[in-house]
Amino acid sequence: MHPLLKHRCKVPPKGWLCTRQPGHEGPCAAYRNVRMPHKLLTVAGDWVIVLVITVILTHIYKFLGGY
Ligand SMILES: [Zn+2]
Repeated sequence: MHPLLKHRCKVPPKGWLCTRQPGHEGPCAAYRNVRMPHKLLTVAGDWVIVLVITVILTHIYKFLGGY
């Protein structure tokens, strides 16, 4: 976790971050946690790697099979 987050308001639910100081008055200045898209991109990247490995294995299998 980022060290600055320790000094931030913890009122918003998980997945949201408040940019104001802890114990501030009024509503939260909360925004969606930006780590979510990065995580989705990581998952997508893993799937691309799996697809590439599958294609390579398929080519090796065909090569060994005499195609
Ligand atoms: Zn807040």
